[in-house]
Amino acid sequence: MNGRLFVIGIGPGDARYLTPEAEAALGAADTLYGYTPYLDRVPVRSGQARQPSDNREEGARAAAALRHAAEGASIALVSGGDPGVFAMAAAVCEAIEAGPDAWRAIALDIIPGVTAMLAVAARIGAPLGHDFCALSLSDNLKPWPLIEQRLDAAAGAGFVLALYNPVSRARPWQLGAAFARLRRHLPDRTPVVFGRAVGRVDEHVVVTTLAAADAAAADMATLVIVGSPETRVVPRPGRAPLVYTPRSALGLTQEACGELGGHHLPNGERKQAECAETSCVPSSRKLS
Ligand code: SAH
Repeated sequence: MNGRLFVIGIGPGDARYLTPEAEAALGAADTLYGYTPYLDRVPVRSGQARQPSDNREEGARAAAALRHAAEGASIALVSGGDPGVFAMAAAVCEAIEAGPDAWRAIALDIIPGVTAMLAVAARIGAPLGHDFCALSLSDNLKPWPLIEQRLDAAAGAGFVLALYNPVSRARPWQLGAAFARLRRHLPDRTPVVFGRAVGRVDEHVVVTTLAAADAAAADMATLVIVGSPETRVVPRPGRAPLVYTPRSALGLTQEACGELGGHHLPNGERKQAECAETSCVPSSRKLS
């Protein structure tokens, strides 16, 4: 008998962020699996069992949920935010690929959720309004030099960065090292947003600059957004400033900017100045 596995994103915070689809899938499960704090956010239903587990046991949790579903049960595996963003959906796919054939016959539903970077971005304006990329700063599943290489490439290419897993008790220095790395590429005034526990009662959002950004302001529940050289801060009287990245960006012609090498620009300020000198083509900056 083939069971069913729902991998469900419950969003970043309280029930406001739960989609109707996620809510229905949670109601349809016999047993819920997940990291304890995420399960704690799901209302208890009579007759529904719970299998909480520790944060670093994603592979074992995915395998346990698949084994249970293969017995014919309807299982929900709960993820914070979106299950496909640094979370359980990939762990389940890895387990299915490596596991017994019977796991491929299980009906699998991956239910999206509001990921942390979207919730943080929405609090302060539209920092992800133009091209951006998301990186996890955790070096549990990849080596730190690869993270540095990706920070260089993304910042050098003008992407806004959403940094997940910026610090943890076991990883205290990574965010500071990432800021130091990014300062090689980006202007001091580049906006940086620390969004902590967004959507929860202890939510706290701070906007600062790359020059002033202090890694000590982040913890495990914080998502950090580092702007691009295009990202702007709009002060407003009596209101929090708006942080946004315009929908259009300066374009660089191949000939004029080829020598900048695209990736390893010394800093974003220089990029704009040199482009002006070397007649790079600015695209329209009109905003409606
Ligand atoms: N699947 C999750 C991300 C898991 S990685 C998602 O889509 O959001 C865990 C990291 O997500 C945390 O270290 C933090 O960087 C970020 N995060 C999760 N919930 C958050 C919240 N409510 N506010 C800010 N950041 C959050």
